[in-house]
Amino acid sequence: MSVLPIVTYDDEVLRKEAEPVNKNSEEVQKLIDDMFDTMYNSDGVGLAAPQIGELRRIFVADADAMSEEGEGPQMGPIAMINPEITFQGGDEVAMDEGCLSIPGVNASVKRPEKIVVSYLDRDFNEQELEIDGWWARVIQHETDHLDGILFLDHLSMFKRKLLGSKLNEIAEGRADIAYPVVPKKAEQK
Ligand code: ZN
Repeated sequence: MSVLPIVTYDDEVLRKEAEPVNKNSEEVQKLIDDMFDTMYNSDGVGLAAPQIGELRRIFVADADAMSEEGEGPQMGPIAMINPEITFQGGDEVAMDEGCLSIPGVNASVKRPEKIVVSYLDRDFNEQELEIDGWWARVIQHETDHLDGILFLDHLSMFKRKLLGSKLNEIAEGRADIAYPVVPKKAEQK
């Protein structure tokens, strides 16, 4: 198991649609283990495969610590393969979100409070989960990553503009980041 460098804003891999995973393999299992290591190493609550440069529809998450604060459900560490959100409902709730690919940037994002998600677990068994609270938020955020969507895309133009200089710092490789990241290409500097 190993900690992998995280791809940061605004690398184009974060903007691409990831491919479904159709077959279990040792390689897929190792990828999932490495994604958990990488997520925990950076104190994250979720990490999607495109964030380590793999365009595959897989994410890992562990939102139990945040759920405790919000009295949400406790799920333990979860890997979801080919997740599909089949229902979004309840009130639109605003909560502060961050992202390991956009370090140091937080913003309040409105999302439906309740979802149903179908997915394959890491043993490739079909699962369906109805969930709300922090977990529902994390699952929506991570599923967005698989479609090239970042939480910034849910913000108003005005709010996004306010974050502009911080985003530029990250995009240009000038941000101070406490975990391994993929270095920016020289021509982007
Ligand atoms: Zn993210």
